[in-house]
Amino acid sequence: MPSPVATTSLLHRRSALSSSQFQIELLESIDLDQLPAGGDFVSILDRSGWQKLTPSKIEIFQINLGKLCNMTCRHCHVDAGPDRHENMDRQTIDACLKALDQTEAHTVDITGGAPELNPHFRYLVEQCVVRGKHVIDRCNLTVLLLPTMTDLPAWLGERGVEVVCSLPHFRQVNTDKQRGDGTFEQSIQALRQLNAVGYGKGNPNLKLTLVSNPPDATLSCNQAAVLEQMWKQGLSENHDITFDRLIAINNMPIARHLEWLEQSGNLQAYMELLVSSFNPDTISGLMCRNTISVSWDGKLYDCDFNQMLNLEIGDRPNHPMRIQDFNPKLLAEREIITGRHCFGCTAGKGSSCSGAIA
Ligand code: SF4
Ligand code: SF4
Repeated sequence: MPSPVATTSLLHRRSALSSSQFQIELLESIDLDQLPAGGDFVSILDRSGWQKLTPSKIEIFQINLGKLCNMTCRHCHVDAGPDRHENMDRQTIDACLKALDQTEAHTVDITGGAPELNPHFRYLVEQCVVRGKHVIDRCNLTVLLLPTMTDLPAWLGERGVEVVCSLPHFRQVNTDKQRGDGTFEQSIQALRQLNAVGYGKGNPNLKLTLVSNPPDATLSCNQAAVLEQMWKQGLSENHDITFDRLIAINNMPIARHLEWLEQSGNLQAYMELLVSSFNPDTISGLMCRNTISVSWDGKLYDCDFNQMLNLEIGDRPNHPMRIQDFNPKLLAEREIITGRHCFGCTAGKGSSCSGAIA
């Protein structure tokens, strides 16, 4: 039986897992000796011909606006929720824009928490659109039902923002199990609002992408095209909803998904599955290679997962690099920080914010 949806963040509950160091140590303590490279990510990269994991050109500038969210999903890798109040301020947003201007990134990927709850969200979107960037809003759907958000779907549509929405499954039971009772119905309502302003009908300027992730300790489906067809049919026939694209991602063994894995007795088996499903063909396309990730307080990371584990990019020990000191040359020379959680990105067809890799 799956455990119930968490009602508060790990931090609020003072769980030991709210410490990123504790999470890293827990993952490292799992006995994976019988598996390839003993479950050591650096060794398995080395065996695959990658002595160092290095970045390519920055194509995606990912900004995490904070941990505040209207939901408390069971699988959340951010440990976000209504009880979290970390939010990026306007000064840091301006520093992000200044840094963005020093890159050739074509896409700005805005995430959270629920990024729309940041008071500077619309300012950030406007500024990125003015710069000709493709903007992604990672939206949890239910946030669109808040009274202050009624005009948001149309507002985003007018600016050509791609809305990437998490909806674990096209069936109510599987979505509510992971995100909380009533989430599915609310998500359907929000999707209708997006469809009503033209999203999800094949217009490249009104792209509606859905993100699915497994409700249990399995990998995301390798047959994305088949899955997308099933979802399109399911949502269209039962709810008269259309969307453009489905991406399937793996759950990362960190934060609240790590808590669920541990509590449900699935942690050992899930890590074994991730390690034994390692696919070397995913390495060159790992998102940490073409993405830079900025946290609400302006620190720089290789990806949103490293951000949640506090694995900061630093130009020397204990000296995190901040967005105010953005230096593309130094960033290009860095080595990407990895750990056991990285097996979540290299398993099967691989997993990134854009879906499968290989
Ligand atoms: S998974 Fe997304 S919607 Fe759910 S609590 Fe985390 S940030 Fe919020
Ligand atoms: S978690 Fe994934 S994206 Fe992040 S550093 Fe590891 S392999 Fe790269």
